[in-house]
Amino acid sequence: MVRIKFTAAALAVSAFACAAPAWAQTPAAAYDTCIQAGALLATPGQAPLAQQTVRITGSRIVDVVAGYQSQGCARVIDQQARTVLPGLIDSHVHILSEQGPNRRFDAVTKTSADRAFDGVVYAKRTLEAGFTTVADLGGDPEAVFALRDAIAAGKVSGPRIVAAGLAITPSGGHADVNGFAPEVLAALRANNRCNGADDCRRAVREAVQAGADIIKITATGGVLSNTNAGLAQQLTDEELKAIMQTAHSMGRAVVAHAHGKDGIDAALRAGVDGIEHGTYGDAESFKLYKQSGAWYVPTLLAGVTVKEEAGKPGTWMPKPVQEKALKVADTAIGTVREARKAGVKIAFGTDTGVSRHGDNAREFALLVQAGFTPAEAIKAATVDAAEHLRLSAETGRIAPGLAADIIAVDGDPTKDVAPLTAVKFVMARGTVAKDVR
Ligand SMILES: [Zn+2]
Repeated sequence: MVRIKFTAAALAVSAFACAAPAWAQTPAAAYDTCIQAGALLATPGQAPLAQQTVRITGSRIVDVVAGYQSQGCARVIDQQARTVLPGLIDSHVHILSEQGPNRRFDAVTKTSADRAFDGVVYAKRTLEAGFTTVADLGGDPEAVFALRDAIAAGKVSGPRIVAAGLAITPSGGHADVNGFAPEVLAALRANNRCNGADDCRRAVREAVQAGADIIKITATGGVLSNTNAGLAQQLTDEELKAIMQTAHSMGRAVVAHAHGKDGIDAALRAGVDGIEHGTYGDAESFKLYKQSGAWYVPTLLAGVTVKEEAGKPGTWMPKPVQEKALKVADTAIGTVREARKAGVKIAFGTDTGVSRHGDNAREFALLVQAGFTPAEAIKAATVDAAEHLRLSAETGRIAPGLAADIIAVDGDPTKDVAPLTAVKFVMARGTVAKDVR
């Protein structure tokens, strides 16, 4: 089917060329690229197959065939010694920034243009780590939407970005500006704050208008906001319902940052599509996840990273942040263990930006600690994350018609996740971004 289309395109080009078409003398390659895979994990969750060839034209996978094929291939990429699998998906990053001692000055020293250029660096690092898709859940809207569009247009090398822009939050909430003098807070305030159902409808509409692909909200307090306001529910039930209804009517999914059980359960009851962190969720919460079909994105790496920092003598973390940071990591891993046993749908996400960009794959080992098999952890970062982000028709598997988002690692990652932290080959939408020999 696709092959026929390709031939038709070649004829159309030759019709404009006037002179004898090149394909009349030399046989045209039917495929731009053929990747010969020693083992192919085409659909994570199913068993890998030995000795397969993935054939690609343009940015799309044409087909997958048995054996090492090269006929009709303009370029053959030998990955015979490796396991080839779909590009990884991180459902929760902040691609424009990284935590550190000076991070809080960024808000008053950096422009949107500065943040976009920072994002270019982090996006490249993320892609080279094997992540061909990310969801950016909170950052400068102007910068992140421009970066998303530049990557999609092929101007900049990076993962496909599903972008939220600024998270919607109540006044003083986790995604409101915090930790500055009142006059600085007043100067930095944006249109993402909302108070009351009507105002929260406005905030959703303005986020969609600005370019948001997905709506991120802060249902509870957060660890890294410099406020002494705990981790409990912050958006009211009425505000949550207004947000879900407005976002869904505009075709957008809603994902909620939530640590406290009250906020997790309230967001689930209001019809949220995903819970981020979900730290203090319990058996009752798991029932709510299952009733609504909402996804859980645990971001264990963020918890581990902030705990490491909070435990250092002379940490840069302000006291209210440090106290919250020391508690969450150990709780989170137990919650994920119980949620998995209860049958909650879990998608891979890291909150990278809290941790270092390019280290996203450290989450795999943490999921394994929480009871995942390596194969389940890979499925969470491919098939499942694609479904969560509504991208199953685009990425998450190696199958005809999907984007050629393909990586390769040494060894068998369905037995041991360690090689996923050292990805050797990366192709994003048909373009090779990395091939270590
Ligand atoms: Zn986050």
